Amino acid sequence: MSETSCDIAIVGGGIIGLATALALSERVPRLRLAVLEKESRLAAHQSSHNSGVIHAGIYYTPGSYKACLCVEGVKLMLTFCDMYGIQYERCGKVIVATSPEELPRLAQLYKRGVANGVAGLERIGPERVREIEPHANALAAIYSPATGIVDFGKVSMTMASVLRGRETAILTGARVGRIVSANGGVVLETASGTVRARALINCAGLYADRVARLMGVRTDVRIIPFRGEYYNLVPDRRHLVRGLIYPAPDPAFPFLGVHFTRTIHGGVEAGPNAVLAFAREGYTYRHIRLGEVAGMVAYPGLWRMAARYWRMGLYEVYRSLSRSAFVRALQRLVPEISPADLEPGGAGVRAQAVEKDGTLVDDFRIVETPKAIHVLNAPSPAATASLAIGRHIADLAVRTLIS
Ligand SMILES: Cc1cc2nc3c(=O)[nH]c(=O)nc-3n(C[C@H](O)[C@H](O)[C@H](O)COP(=O)(O)OP(=O)(O)OC[C@H]3O[C@@H](n4cnc5c(N)ncnc54)[C@H](O)[C@@H]3O)c2cc1C
Repeated sequence: MSETSCDIAIVGGGIIGLATALALSERVPRLRLAVLEKESRLAAHQSSHNSGVIHAGIYYTPGSYKACLCVEGVKLMLTFCDMYGIQYERCGKVIVATSPEELPRLAQLYKRGVANGVAGLERIGPERVREIEPHANALAAIYSPATGIVDFGKVSMTMASVLRGRETAILTGARVGRIVSANGGVVLETASGTVRARALINCAGLYADRVARLMGVRTDVRIIPFRGEYYNLVPDRRHLVRGLIYPAPDPAFPFLGVHFTRTIHGGVEAGPNAVLAFAREGYTYRHIRLGEVAGMVAYPGLWRMAARYWRMGLYEVYRSLSRSAFVRALQRLVPEISPADLEPGGAGVRAQAVEKDGTLVDDFRIVETPKAIHVLNAPSPAATASLAIGRHIADLAVRTLIS
């Protein structure tokens, strides 16, 4: 069992924890940092199980953390990729309205994108859509030429190697199971040893509320895991999608709706849907953790959320279990898609914070408590925004944790 001492311990070696360590190591180079990750490898969960889209910042409420940090984060992400030779592509995206009811949503979305300062947005008609995405179906669309794709797992690994060069301690296999206050700081007991720190930054993703509770923090939210499942287009049908084809999202729901995503590795993914998972890291229906299910069921917010969204929730489960229902949703975007064009793909689990009254927290939520900062909600576009989120947390830490 090892003993480590540091100024700041960062719990969670996903893209947010790593980006936070990067920003802190730039702001205060003398600071001794340790990143503690429970898995044997970094970025094993959300940061490597996502769509890999560098979002431009269209969807988010103007002035929100999401809007500001996404737009700033894109610039930082592209600079980081250029600096370290990480492959990315600005393949562009169309958000299509496929029925007349969706046209006002598209107009609203365009206004938001412009208000958020997203560069190059265009409202386009069906002919222009066909030039960009010849197989897409659209009455009208928004074209975002700046939206891109990258492998965020690779970005995370590169962040880690930069940090190692700056002598940040990166401890894997270090699940934090207990946190106690001692000598004006904190002691974290992990699966591989003890870490003493002056303060802590909680970037534990799907377990962020749990880690906060280990410190005795009474969070007003709970993380509810929503699995997103993908299909892959078979190689000889990938030509049906050139870049990214998204539906006009339902404003009542925080997820973007199943879409087509070209990946930086050359494939095309279809998805993700959003089904309630029976474990925080429940990548399939067979992954069930009874303790975690019991915790969810005992949370009043889950029931209030279910009362509000039960219809959509049931449809998501049906579409998850029925390939033909999934295909029908995709055919709204690309009518030529048939069941034979799809093969099962991977899945990711979103850490979605839910309030006690059942509200799905929309914006990023970062909470300060004595000797700690907790990232309690960092869903999409947090991978895109990670470097900006890291800077924001570093600013907070410099102001309140390090003095
Ligand atoms: C299906 C899906 C699609 C998405 N698509 C996109 C997209 O296209 N673009 C985009 O910008 N964003 C996207 N996102 C969102 C993005 O992936 C996440 O917002 C981002 O990865 C969150 O990073 P994180 O570091 O907070 O979480 P994570 O990557 O989950 O990292 C948290 C880490 O904490 C560790 N941990 C947990 N508990 C402990 C403990 N007790 N002790 C030590 N370590 C602990 C975990 O093992 C994990 O490695 C998507 C997410 C999903 C799930």
